[in-house]
Amino acid sequence: MGVSPWLPLLGAVAGAIIGSYLATLAIRWPLGKSASRGRSRCDACGMKVGAGSLIPVVSWLMQRGRCRACGARIDPIHPAMEVFAAAVGAIALVVVPPAQALAGMALGWALLLLIALDARYFWLPDRLTLPLIAGGWGAAVLGLGTAPLDSLIGAAAGFIGLWSVGEAYRRVRGRTGLGGGDPKLLAAIGAWCGWVPLPFVLLGAAVMGLAIALLRRARGQAVGATDRVAFGALMALAAWPIWVMMIAAR
Ligand SMILES: [Zn+2]
Repeated sequence: MGVSPWLPLLGAVAGAIIGSYLATLAIRWPLGKSASRGRSRCDACGMKVGAGSLIPVVSWLMQRGRCRACGARIDPIHPAMEVFAAAVGAIALVVVPPAQALAGMALGWALLLLIALDARYFWLPDRLTLPLIAGGWGAAVLGLGTAPLDSLIGAAAGFIGLWSVGEAYRRVRGRTGLGGGDPKLLAAIGAWCGWVPLPFVLLGAAVMGLAIALLRRARGQAVGATDRVAFGALMALAAWPIWVMMIAAR
């Protein structure tokens, strides 16, 4: 059965709109500001980014990343979040059946926001990770994800597993190696994917972290044991494709 071309297009447009809102949240939430202004605007003068354009990313490119009104540089997180959120919407609707696709989009967009916040601020807010654990359990109960028992075991294994690694590191090395939000994020990933893929999520994140460290060294940046890598962002990045493949393979 062929997929209607309108479906991924619809997912991409919805994703771009959501992504625009997510970018605003990622910039304003850590500052304690409201994101109720909604879609992406120039952070300097408040002019809507790409206002009047259907595709904000294209207008961002045409304006060479600067605000049309005041000329200030537009934070590239705006187009980046729009592109990735659009990709999440389109991929989910092509690869996964429609009911699961809605759950997959919600998961993908939540993970995107966590990736942005962790990459910039090393911050995985409880207000995102905890509802995401509940969401994974809810999706499992509704038959849109993994089996409910797998979801429970996954959440517990994800939290306890990473929490104990962090505790062991702290006791041995005398400093914090993992962020406090990381075990809650892996619990959320476990709630969505079940416990079986968790080692692959960790492996994927570790491989990406190593690649980033090597890239930093190749660029001549110092790489020490205390250099921080946003491990939560990397786990989130590994988790979504794993969830999609898991659902698509059923
Ligand atoms: Zn401006």
